[in-house]
Amino acid sequence: MADRWGSRYPHRVQAAVFLDRDNTLIANDGDLGDPAQVRLIDGVASALLQLRDVGYRLVVVSNQGGVARGKFSEAEVDAVNERIATLIDESAKCRGLIERFYYCPYHPQGTSSRYRREHPWRKPQPGMLLQAGRDLGLDLRRSWLVGDQPRDVAAGHAAGCRSVMVSNDRELIEQAKPVAVVETFSEAVQHILRSGDSDRENLQPSPPSSNPAAASTAGESPTAVRKTPAAPIESGFSELRRAMLDLTEQLRSDRMRRVELTTLRMVAGVGQLLVVLLALFGLLQLDDMEAFVKWMLGAALLQLVTITMLLVDLRS
Ligand SMILES: [Mg+2]
Repeated sequence: MADRWGSRYPHRVQAAVFLDRDNTLIANDGDLGDPAQVRLIDGVASALLQLRDVGYRLVVVSNQGGVARGKFSEAEVDAVNERIATLIDESAKCRGLIERFYYCPYHPQGTSSRYRREHPWRKPQPGMLLQAGRDLGLDLRRSWLVGDQPRDVAAGHAAGCRSVMVSNDRELIEQAKPVAVVETFSEAVQHILRSGDSDRENLQPSPPSSNPAAASTAGESPTAVRKTPAAPIESGFSELRRAMLDLTEQLRSDRMRRVELTTLRMVAGVGQLLVVLLALFGLLQLDDMEAFVKWMLGAALLQLVTITMLLVDLRS
């Protein structure tokens, strides 16, 4: 039985192991948008199966700032994640081993205005873990995070999880201060299995993970469910607010000062000047309420037109 997100265990409060993606599950030193380039790190699939067999739910949490930098699209991130899920399932002979992929496409130095911003989902912030906790009903204090970077560990700790860092970089380890440091993913899983013994009695019975036939029960999600941050366009108001923040950020940036002044921007500038004049005329008519309202309505309408022109220009 699957819940609306495809979870097989909707009524169980369970611990999870949150997994960083790049250089934790797959070998990837750069931005990856091509599913054909996915290479699982040795031992990952069998180690994940061990975690699932003792009841941990497996959730990938990944920064994908390459989307904001224009290196690849969200659709390509989805394709890479699908490929990872497929390779893990094939290798472990199990379906849906990774329950969900969460990723954050935003980055404050992105080249795309749509994605150029800080976001609570971007590690070291714990947004993805907190969201997964709500979506899946997880007990975060009994959960773990496995990653290779200080930002992974920081996100895990901020969410109340324990952490294992897969690294041999002393400088990074010193920065991160994880609960445990290991050199391979398999060692990370062994550490969790040993340390998690005290939690074991609280974990629910192990799901039938190693039986593909059982896992293919009707209604279950065959592969991991994709989950990205709440769409920035949630309503007209939030879209306008987001766009205005974008505009403000850009106007503040040095880069923007060098951007060519377009016709649309010049017209919007003149329009903005007229808005101020209309509003001033309106204020001078305060003794005549009808005239005042007309002037102010005119100013408001013109303001909307100038904002629209700036937004069109920003997105072009
Ligand atoms: Mg990583």
